[in-house]
Amino acid sequence: MNILLNDEIISRENVMVDIEDRGYQFGDGIYEMIRIYDGLLFEWEAHLERLVRSAKELMIPLPKGMEVLQKNIHLLMKESGVLNGSVYIQITRGVSPRKHHFPENADPVLTAYVREMERPLEQIRNGIKAITTEDIRWLRVDIKSLNLLGNVLAKQKAVEQGASEAILVRGDIVTEASSSNVFAIRGQECFTHPTNQFILNGITRQVVVRLMESTNLTLVETPFTKEALMEMDEVFITNTGLEVCPVIEIDEQLIGDGMPGYYTTQLQKAFETLLLELIPQ
Ligand code: PMP
Repeated sequence: MNILLNDEIISRENVMVDIEDRGYQFGDGIYEMIRIYDGLLFEWEAHLERLVRSAKELMIPLPKGMEVLQKNIHLLMKESGVLNGSVYIQITRGVSPRKHHFPENADPVLTAYVREMERPLEQIRNGIKAITTEDIRWLRVDIKSLNLLGNVLAKQKAVEQGASEAILVRGDIVTEASSSNVFAIRGQECFTHPTNQFILNGITRQVVVRLMESTNLTLVETPFTKEALMEMDEVFITNTGLEVCPVIEIDEQLIGDGMPGYYTTQLQKAFETLLLELIPQ
């Protein structure tokens, strides 16, 4: 596997992570994961914008190679031969003797690599089971930082209970899920948490919000409770890997009739159409 290290592409064996890289010691860094469909980067501009925003919020200077990032990612993709997959990009604050405060002259470190990935069609078609769990994360989860322990613990709990996603509840409000945004439909209203410091502004969320205009659904960006969630007709999650994925069961209780719902399926079709439009036939 080849890795982009700042502005150089080198083989994985030759990349060294410094033991005092702040990403490694403090989780002091940010990342993005972008989908590659048929050799094309999906929503590149939106991902780049979010990466730059995360850097700004954490006061991480943009690293060497940032201005030629898109070109280098394309080179990486070409060299990997991957047509369908994902690219992971990470920027850490850099290497410095371990002290909590920002180092004075550390250079940020950018790494990126490409992986092959199939569309998870089984989950997309049949839906997934989820659990709910307390949202124990910090109060700036709008920043896509490397600090993911709250997410990791929540996902682990889901997996241990035979589910594949953990829906996070702060107080009694549904925020998002461990690695996805949550939408819930009742009648013709589609509820989702507003974009503030309590959720990550998902790129797939943004796409789905746009696609919703082609349906009869009305988007309601407002906090809603776990109790309300359990009474919804349909629930679905969105993220870069799962796209639009129905949630058919939460905490062992069926949502609706326990099948992917009408509007969720409509949004999935709209998403498929968008992909077909992007990919030249
Ligand atoms: N929320 C969280 C906590 C996530 O980790 C992700 C996945 N990065 C998302 C939402 C969805 O974001 P995106 O659609 O950009 O993948």
